[in-house]
Amino acid sequence: MIIRIGLDDTDNLNYGCTTYIAAEIIEEIFKHGYNLKDFPYLVRLNPNIPYKTRGNASISLIVDGDENLINLIINKLKNFKFIIDPLRNKPQPVLAFYVSNKIPNGLRNFYKKALTQVINIDEAIEIANKYKINYYPLLNGTRGLIGSLAAIGADLSKEYSYELLAYRDLNDTLTHRNISYKLVEKMDEIFSESTFGNIDKNKKRVLITPHGSDPVFLGIRGYDPNKLIQAYNFLNVEDKITKWIIYKTNQGTDIHLKIAKELDIYKPYYVFNKTVILIEDPKIICGGHVILKVRIKDIVMDAIAYKQSGILNRFARLLKKGDIIEIGGGINKNSSINIEKIIVKKLTTREQKIIPYCIYCGKKMDSEGDGQGIRCDNCAQKYPFKFSFIVKENCAYLKDGMIILPDYSSRRHLSKYENYTTSKVIKFSSQYFHFKLKQTNIT
Ligand code: ATP
Repeated sequence: MIIRIGLDDTDNLNYGCTTYIAAEIIEEIFKHGYNLKDFPYLVRLNPNIPYKTRGNASISLIVDGDENLINLIINKLKNFKFIIDPLRNKPQPVLAFYVSNKIPNGLRNFYKKALTQVINIDEAIEIANKYKINYYPLLNGTRGLIGSLAAIGADLSKEYSYELLAYRDLNDTLTHRNISYKLVEKMDEIFSESTFGNIDKNKKRVLITPHGSDPVFLGIRGYDPNKLIQAYNFLNVEDKITKWIIYKTNQGTDIHLKIAKELDIYKPYYVFNKTVILIEDPKIICGGHVILKVRIKDIVMDAIAYKQSGILNRFARLLKKGDIIEIGGGINKNSSINIEKIIVKKLTTREQKIIPYCIYCGKKMDSEGDGQGIRCDNCAQKYPFKFSFIVKENCAYLKDGMIILPDYSSRRHLSKYENYTTSKVIKFSSQYFHFKLKQTNIT
């Protein structure tokens, strides 16, 4: 029978990672002779959720299994050491099992909602009951059910990418990862078409390694699993790794923005993606952040291009009152939009005041003050009347249709990259994972 397994909310900031526990489950599955029907799914959900630890990741697996397998997995996780953070009331891990050959629309819609909105736990319980999905809270609290169900309902049939995640020994999680920028830059150059988000060239930062003390050693994202393995081998870090596995994922697809385009709810923590008009010139506030006051229908909102977003912040400064743009992002707790992406739809005409050159000496002239005459600094010639005139012109840097994205290190996991391409359709097999010291015989 086809069993769909969902898992979420297993870690806190200092320890663990849901994908690591998923890798442990996968190892257990293979060890007992069961097979995965597809790559394991690494499903990112609404990036604005306040309960998330890092990237709002959840996991699902599709297994050809039986009752025995379900018991094996429950027992394995019952013995897992979860580290409790009472201040954040975390983690609230939940394991869910759905026995079904296909995913009903109600569950697909639940996934879409989890990508863009804030879901109440009662709604998740209702969905689990409706579709007879069995779930097991592994500690106190059931919040993990939301992510578990959404991961089971995820649609990765059309737009998806892959990520090779390599893990280190749990005893090594406090050590430095020591991967040089130069090495990853070289890898990025060689695999520029088939991978994405390896480095931030503007900030000279490596992006394939996390910074925390979790078991993930590195993650390489891309569109072709075979290229991911080549890129991983190029880094030559095998001696630091205990296992690696390739996940199929919704990362790098902009799926949250695509769904939010149809959504007309503007509440804190929801995803936002709408065409808006700027009703004031951009304001630069303390810290260099840019505030765009925008209107959508009759609603006025502030949209923020943070200084850290680099290029996006610099381009946002060039916008003008009257410009029409599409803004993708998330609504924060103050009901402002944190901008992830801007598409320039229609620029208004720019007006520029030009002061003419002196007709006597040919040097540029200076204004004597607003509404007054002009004077030549070079030959002291004065013209007592207002001589400046207005020229209408287009912005030299912005063009209609332009897509403005942040520096790589400020992007969301779900954000689409410039080199986006349809991912390779590949059947999952034993070449797409490697567990050291433990031989498996999946074909
Ligand atoms: P990591 O990336 O390290 O695995 P994380 O950032 O994924 O951590 P979690 O610890 O999994 O964060 O916590 C996210 C929590 O938010 C989970 O309990 C999940 O069920 C819940 N959640 C996810 N999406 C939504 C949503 N749209 N509405 C409400 N709750 C959500």
